[in-house]
Amino acid sequence: MKIIIHGGFFSESSTNSETKKAKQEALSKIVIQGYEYLKTHAALETVAYTVSLLEDNELFNAGLGSQIQSDGKVRLSASLMDSKTERFSGVINIEDVKNPILIAEQLLLEEDRVLSGEGAQKYARQHGHQSYNPITPSRQADFDEKLKQQENKGTVGCVALDNDGKLAAATSTGGKGFEIPCRVSDSATVAGNYANKYAGISCTGVGEDITSAALAAKIVTRVTDGFTIEEACKKSFSELKPFDGFAGVVGISANGDVCHYDSHPYMVWASFDGSLQVFN
Ligand code: ASP
Repeated sequence: MKIIIHGGFFSESSTNSETKKAKQEALSKIVIQGYEYLKTHAALETVAYTVSLLEDNELFNAGLGSQIQSDGKVRLSASLMDSKTERFSGVINIEDVKNPILIAEQLLLEEDRVLSGEGAQKYARQHGHQSYNPITPSRQADFDEKLKQQENKGTVGCVALDNDGKLAAATSTGGKGFEIPCRVSDSATVAGNYANKYAGISCTGVGEDITSAALAAKIVTRVTDGFTIEEACKKSFSELKPFDGFAGVVGISANGDVCHYDSHPYMVWASFDGSLQVFN
């Protein structure tokens, strides 16, 4: 049983050591909660639950505390994938909900498994997800002051390997911040989140770079074809270099190798397999 999570990127220039400490503590606590849950649940249920905890923490750019798009609205995207069924599901640019990852989880049971915008919101309401405003005062202040940040920070993700050897990956984001309304992030696509019986990967970083590189699906495919997860990350990240792609990933392979990899300093992450590891 293993679990790894990420909380997006951390920028020394725009955040202080207090924020760093707060993120270390939050990730450490949540990864242990996720691991406890994994003891009695499948990888799929665990990644959805763990990402919902990250969404509820306003330190991260997913669910509560998400970045605001250029028209002043928050639109959330989240997805998950299960190695057992090889099913992918997600919501793209959904508004006024608390936990987009739980709506994505619900959609796994449907024939139509990726919904966007109003259709996604209507589906969420039909399945008991109440109206919820994820804008926090601090995100609103960022927006009001037009503190446009070029770096992406704070998307969340989780990959877990359960007792039955099943893998799952989940990712959730509030997007880049100040983007053109309805811009589609990588996070609810197979570029940003992918799992099969060989490996699971969750990405963060610049969605356009991750999508151009088909990053999560590509790393998992390489592991499927015989690479170790470390080698697969190394090769796939080398392919980001020609266009200075900005990305970070966390992943686990079926043989239990846990990895994290980033193109720029630096992604925040934590893992637990009985012992805790956390970014420094
Ligand atoms: N990948 C996300 C996006 O481009 C942002 C992030 O990971 O921070 O929407």
